[in-house]
Amino acid sequence: MIERTLVLIKPDGVQRSLTGELIQRFERVGLKIVGMKMAWVDKAFSQKHYAAHVKKPFYAGLEKMITEGPVIAMVFEGIHAVELVRKIVGPTEPRKAPPGTIRGDYAQHSYEYADKKGIAIKNLIHASGTKDEADVEVALWFKNNELHSYKTVHDVHVL
Ligand code: AMP
Repeated sequence: MIERTLVLIKPDGVQRSLTGELIQRFERVGLKIVGMKMAWVDKAFSQKHYAAHVKKPFYAGLEKMITEGPVIAMVFEGIHAVELVRKIVGPTEPRKAPPGTIRGDYAQHSYEYADKKGIAIKNLIHASGTKDEADVEVALWFKNNELHSYKTVHDVHVL
């Protein structure tokens, strides 16, 4: 039930200096950061991270977007963390994302706009979709010795 999930603040979030506000959204529900780094993704790594999308028509734009500047990569730990993070982030298309979600509160892109411009939807965050996906993505982005546990980070378990 206590899960770990990967969250990326994508280049658009870093460029807009939103990292502090976005991290706060996850921390304030009680999720704990157990891993964090800044990284500049190259094309080869993008193809690994977005393996499920490589053959899709929007992949070229997606690769351009994810490689255009550094990202903040984090692992959050908490109760039902995968589902909880996705709820906080909101649906893929900011146009449809309700107020109160990150994409509803900080972004405005639509599929129509992105497709017309031939770019990826700018929606600030990547978050693992399922527990299995989270396990694969956490292992892709972090070595075991870069991850910490509640006990070592916070001394006492607060959940
Ligand atoms: P996901 O793995 O579901 O987060 O999808 C990867 C990312 O690709 C999304 O967060 C968007 O930034 C982008 N994306 C997904 N579908 C489209 C689309 N039809 N057109 C443009 N960008 C898209």
